[in-house]
Formats: sequence, C-alpha cells, structure tokens
Amino acid sequence: MFLGDGMSVPTLAAARTLLGQNQGRTGEESQLSFEDFPTVGLAKTYCVNHQIADSACTATAYLCGVKNNYGTIGVTAAVPRRDCAASLVKANQVASIAEWALQDDRDVGIVTTTRITHASPAGAFAKIANRNWESDYDVLDEDRDPTLCRDIAHQLVHSYPANRFKVILGGGRKKFLPHTMYDEEGTQGDRTDGLNLIEEWEANKASQNVTYKYVWNREQLMNVSQSPPEYLLGLFEGNHMKYHLDANNETEPTLTELTEIAIRSLSRNENGFFLFVESGRIDHGHHDNLVHKALDETIHLHLAVQRATELLSEEDSLIVVTADHSHVMAINGYTPRGSSILGRSNEVGDDGIPYMTISYTNGPGARGHVNGSRVDVTADDDFGSNAWMTHAEVPLEDETHGGDDVAVFARGPHHALFTGLYEQSRIPHLMGYAACIGPGLHYCNATSTMRSSIFLIFSLYLLNTLFRRR
Ligand SMILES: [Zn+2]
Repeated sequence: MFLGDGMSVPTLAAARTLLGQNQGRTGEESQLSFEDFPTVGLAKTYCVNHQIADSACTATAYLCGVKNNYGTIGVTAAVPRRDCAASLVKANQVASIAEWALQDDRDVGIVTTTRITHASPAGAFAKIANRNWESDYDVLDEDRDPTLCRDIAHQLVHSYPANRFKVILGGGRKKFLPHTMYDEEGTQGDRTDGLNLIEEWEANKASQNVTYKYVWNREQLMNVSQSPPEYLLGLFEGNHMKYHLDANNETEPTLTELTEIAIRSLSRNENGFFLFVESGRIDHGHHDNLVHKALDETIHLHLAVQRATELLSEEDSLIVVTADHSHVMAINGYTPRGSSILGRSNEVGDDGIPYMTISYTNGPGARGHVNGSRVDVTADDDFGSNAWMTHAEVPLEDETHGGDDVAVFARGPHHALFTGLYEQSRIPHLMGYAACIGPGLHYCNATSTMRSSIFLIFSLYLLNTLFRRR
C-alpha cells in the first residue's frame, strides 16, 4: 500500500503537469505511474467526530478498517482524544492489516519520509489516544503517565505487532533517544525516561538470535541492500527526512531506494507480505503553502510506485495507492496549455493584480492588503524559488486539510473491488479480502469449502452413475 499524505485530486493533476514540464513537455497530458492502474475509486475521508480529517483517524480507517476520533490511532471511537484510560481497554483497540498479515505468517514493513512515529505509519501498529505522544516526554507533557500509556516509539520497539516488523525505514531518531544524547547528525533526543530505544531494538533482536541491522545513512543502507538482514531498522534523520528538493542524494536515500530494499527484503517470505510506503511530506509542503515541494514529493511517490510495479508481478501482488485526506490547494483558471503550473495566471484579478495558477484557500502564504488592495506576489524577491510561499486567502500559521474525497488506485489481484465511491475504512477490508487475511479470511475459507462441496457432489454423482451402469 502506498500513501501520499495529503495527496488530493488537484495535487495529482498539478504534479503530473509538473512532471511533464520537468521533461520539457506541455505537461497536462502526463501520467503518474499509478494513474495508469486499471481501477480507480474515491474514498470519503471524514472521521467520527470531524468533518475534515487528520492523518491519525484516517490511518485508523485505511489500515485498521474502522473510523474513529480525530487525533487517535488504532482505537475505536469509544476513545476520546487524550483519554489514556479508555485507550487501554482491550475492547477499544483495533488490529491493523499489518497484524492480519502477521497472523497469516506473512512479513510486514513500514516506510515513510516523516518520523517513523508519525500518524500515518503509526496506524500500522500503535494503539494510542493521541497521535502527538511519539515519545515519553510528549505523554508527560500532557500530564499523562507514560508507563501506562506507552508512547509510539516505545510501542514500535517493544509491543506487538511492530516488534515483529521486518523492515522499518523513515526519520525521527529523536523520539528514540534520551534528551541527554545527540544522534549521529547532532539532533538532541527527546526522551526523559533515559531509554535508548535504538539500542533496545538491537538488543531485542540479538536475544532472539536473528540477523538485524540498524542504519542511519544512505551508504549504510546501500551496503545491506544486496543481502538485507532479517530485521532492518533505518532512521535517516533526527526529525522528518528532508524534502527531496533539499536533500543531499549522496547521503540520504530516496523514497524509491527505500521502497526497493523493503520489497527485496520482504519478498523472501514465500507466504507474502504487507508493506506500507508513505510519501509523508506532500502534506508538509501543502501546510506551508510550499507548493513546489508538495508536488515534488508527489513525483517521488510516483517514482517509488513505478519501481514497485517493476519489482512485483501484477499476477500475485496487489498494489493500492491512495491519500489520507485532501488539502485546500486550488488550480485557478484560465492559463493557456503548457503554462508553468508553478507560475502566474495569464489573467489578472478585477483589481488589476496578477494571481497564481495554484493558490490556497488558507495558510501562511496569506499576505496583508496594502492600501486596501492585494499585493502582487510575483514581485516578491524570492518569487520562483523553492522556499517561496504561494498565495493564500485566509491567514493561518498552517494551511489546513480539505474535506473532499481522495482517489484510490489499484492494480493486481481483485483490483476491481476498489472501484466506486466508498468509506475510507473499507480499504483494508478490500485488501484483506484480496489477500485472504484478516476479517475477509472467512470468504476465502468459504470459497474453498464451496469448492470441496462441489467436488464431493460431483464425486457422488460419478459413483452413482458408475453404480447404476453396473
Ligand atoms: Zn497534515
């Protein structure tokens, strides 16, 4: 499963146009790799108590198959946000498709460009009343007891199902390290309980007598890529991984490289695997009105999916590509064909001032009016640079998510199940059905029971016929 965090339908149209324009074409006619998949559907993203969702309740929907409350992960809607006690009640906890896969002796991996403890990947393993409780300090900071409500990093290392994940690749070392320590690149740890969870992960694996490796940069990752250990933990940044536009590709792996090594590693299990890959910073680019970065991160998801389609057979591997929620980015009319998708419209507002082809309804890019009129954002000193914020209407420190539906693309066995418009929480049930794991398993059993019944009836018929002839 591939997730573009915040990859709204307009983001797809803008990213494919940028992709084509980067290749010297007009752009609009381009296609992202997964836009070529045979089935596309739409998912409704609202959560139980919010019209416009976040990455926590949506992760619970598309990984665990139930909708729940905004800001909560792996628990039902019986758990209000920050209600530590309610989240500990077993009946309020839900299993993810990663757990369904493990129960069928398949392997599991998670890959992201954000902190590995961030909401989307956490949907595969965490049961927590607040997505922000990524380290024990984050739990303490809200006056909850981290020895009762374990933080997400702790759950990743010590709790089922994540303690059985074979591949864990992303950013976010600081959530694993004590605050008295600095990581390999100088980021200070977050933890106040003194735990070094990276060392504890290594010690756990050593005690199980399995092969394992912790890597923190691209070179170390490439060194294990040909024969990966059974268990691989890669944390490539203290915080989120850098935007690809800002990253040093010599020292930092790309999403495509992470995806490839994850697939190579997990493919060794003959029973198969579940892999979750997130391009997590599309969302961050949008939140900061940095549209070029949001679109570039979308293009990197396209590249990672393209690599996966080369490595995995359409005959036996289902690939689903979707987003968790939308954003309030709009593509404004009416520039001519082939105009830079990152540029200004060829038209001006009724006030005579230019506007951008892409703008946001809200966010930090909002500029105050000068002498009662809008400012010309194309006159900014940094106009056209990667760090330039495009125009937004309502001033907000963070641009918001959008409430519109997201697209779901599917290729491989049972891909046609993903057509139509449905609740986001249906997605893992469809994947489970296709893979014969989880709650969908009884359908597979029913099919084989039916096959054996038909065989039995046919055998009886045959015997009967033979007997009569005699
Ligand atoms: Zn977001």
